[in-house]
Amino acid sequence: MTRPAVRDDLRELEGYHSPQVDVDVRLNTNESPYPPPDAFRDALAAELSRVEWHRYPDRAATALREDLARATGVDASQVFVANGSNEVLQTVCLAYGGAGRTAVDFQPTYLMHGQIAEITGTAVHHGRRAADFSLDLAEVESVLRATQPAITFLCSPNNPTGMIESPEVVRAAVDLAPGVVVCDEAYGQFADWSALELLDEDRPLVVTRTYSKTWSMAAARLGYLVGPTWLVAELEKVGLPYHLDSLKQIAGRVALRFESEMRERVGRLVAERERLVAALEDLDVQQWPSGANFILFRPRAKPGREVWQGLLDRSVLIRDTSSWPGLEGCLRVTVGTPAEDDAFLAALTEVLAA
Ligand code: PMP
Repeated sequence: MTRPAVRDDLRELEGYHSPQVDVDVRLNTNESPYPPPDAFRDALAAELSRVEWHRYPDRAATALREDLARATGVDASQVFVANGSNEVLQTVCLAYGGAGRTAVDFQPTYLMHGQIAEITGTAVHHGRRAADFSLDLAEVESVLRATQPAITFLCSPNNPTGMIESPEVVRAAVDLAPGVVVCDEAYGQFADWSALELLDEDRPLVVTRTYSKTWSMAAARLGYLVGPTWLVAELEKVGLPYHLDSLKQIAGRVALRFESEMRERVGRLVAERERLVAALEDLDVQQWPSGANFILFRPRAKPGREVWQGLLDRSVLIRDTSSWPGLEGCLRVTVGTPAEDDAFLAALTEVLAA
């Protein structure tokens, strides 16, 4: 048999690289180390017992969108929901990217922005962040002028560097961008401001969020976008019919009843992050200030890859970002429970001394 050829532009594409291995301490994918409260599980179980399994879900996910809209202070027609924020991003790319169009990101940043855009046939141009990983508006302006992107990706707090973009910079980037601007706020609840403040029917800005991190619901695969009504209407056309199952719609609604518990977990993680930052200061690593639930650092005396492997040998898995553009030698650790972080610090101390 002659194997059918995959699309020319996908031949060189590599899949998503984040090993799922069995280890004692898993600090590699920025999940919450804490599950949602028991009361959430109980409420969800009760709701799920009423699911009409023989019927398709509400195609418009009306109730979930209304609840999210209320929690966000917008109208339900401004909310789009999908299976994880990655699917939200894919839907934006399907609707506004595609053949003959360009998307721009500013590296180092979340690699899936470029990857998802490429898979949808969108050309991708990578701008650069400044040496301290901040967005340099002169670079932003020159890249946007030169490439005229249909989609511009921003990320705040930025994964994997942790930096929260300032309102001034995001606003300026939105004013400069000729097309849709996506501000990815997967870690938005950790920041002291949100680009949601800048939403306007006359501004092609969308903010994406997820249940995977702060809501402690990575297992559910649920994400959403808030943006102008007319843009959400275009996304609705592109989404598959009944793409969001009933379980997820219910889980997303029940979760919102436990917002104060979510905020409490975020507060606990911020305090724990600061403890981790202080501990890393005593080790021979460079680190960058983080406004999220992870820390980017670079071992000074040893290659990042070697340190990553040494940690894995001690059953501690973190993210190897050392081969990402602009992140030579860098690693990213997710803030875990105090016990997990102690195990990480002990292993790191050992590896650096070995
Ligand atoms: N955006 C950013 C910046 C992320 O870090 C992640 C998760 N790694 C996502 C989007 C995707 O999250 P999900 O698909 O789980 O909602």
